[in-house]
Amino acid sequence: MRTLPLSTSSEIPVLGLGTWRMGEASGRRKAEVAAVREAIAMGYRLIDTAEMYGEGGAETVLGQALAEALRTGDVRRDELFIVSKVYPHNASRRGTPEACERSLQRLGLDMIDLYLLHWRGSHPLRETAEAMQALAARGRIAHWGVSNFDVDDMQELSQAVGEGPGCAANQVYLSLGERGPEFSLLPWMRERGMPLMAYSPIDQGALAADAALEELAARLGVTAAQLALAAVIARPGVVAIPKAVRRTHLEENLAAARLVLDAATLEELDRLHPPPQRKTPLAMI
Ligand code: NAP
Repeated sequence: MRTLPLSTSSEIPVLGLGTWRMGEASGRRKAEVAAVREAIAMGYRLIDTAEMYGEGGAETVLGQALAEALRTGDVRRDELFIVSKVYPHNASRRGTPEACERSLQRLGLDMIDLYLLHWRGSHPLRETAEAMQALAARGRIAHWGVSNFDVDDMQELSQAVGEGPGCAANQVYLSLGERGPEFSLLPWMRERGMPLMAYSPIDQGALAADAALEELAARLGVTAAQLALAAVIARPGVVAIPKAVRRTHLEENLAAARLVLDAATLEELDRLHPPPQRKTPLAMI
């Protein structure tokens, strides 16, 4: 799978697996653990979660799947790239490491590859950044970053971060249906070599049923969801993290990482879902 540089020493795959809505109901847990295991066996290496998802439930599902996959040798720990997020209300100097320890416990890991502030809250950015840097210095996380930050937030963050490793990534809502970040946020991040992680890249499943997209996708011999994903990761500097539980979805999405769209298809996609012509407030799900 194609990767993007995350820092001088590390890379992030352009496509991974989301886990929102997992771990919310005990009756679905077995199927969710099986889906994550299947995903790893299929070749997914980047997995995104958060302490918020199922109030720790998604991390527990992921932890169980990781333990089984590592035990059976389906994958090595150093091949995986695990992302989790701290709640804004926990992102204080003391709260951040405590939340991180709870996440590590649920994940059954001794290090999170990328730890994000889920969205901006009331704790000063400098405090959160310093807490993140301290976690990195202790080896509890490899990289830190943010989520749902617009350009002005990113600029403020750059000012707030002192010495030490800076923000490695920003995860925001970006899809064919929500192209706002392409106007100024994505160029700002690209200039700094910082990957943008696109969440809800299939618009929570809606783009998979978009008739015009389906028609174009059929002409290319792919599905609408695959076309939506290929379009997102065709933008330089962008990583997509679609969530899927169904096996066909997992397979389709992984295969979408190999699709290369020609100029005519990208033009047709711009006609169906025009790029932004002005700055719009960052959309959040
Ligand atoms: P999404 O990935 O755009 O869509 C997920 C939905 O699409 C699920 O219902 C899934 O069904 C369906 N789907 C997946 N692949 C499909 C395919 N090939 N064909 C048809 N349907 C398909 O939405 P999302 O879950 O909101 O976003 C993805 C991930 O981003 C989340 O899971 C989470 O990890 C992250 N996220 C982060 C934030 C943030 O604030 N940082 C916000 C939202 C999301 P099945 O599950 O039934 O397979």
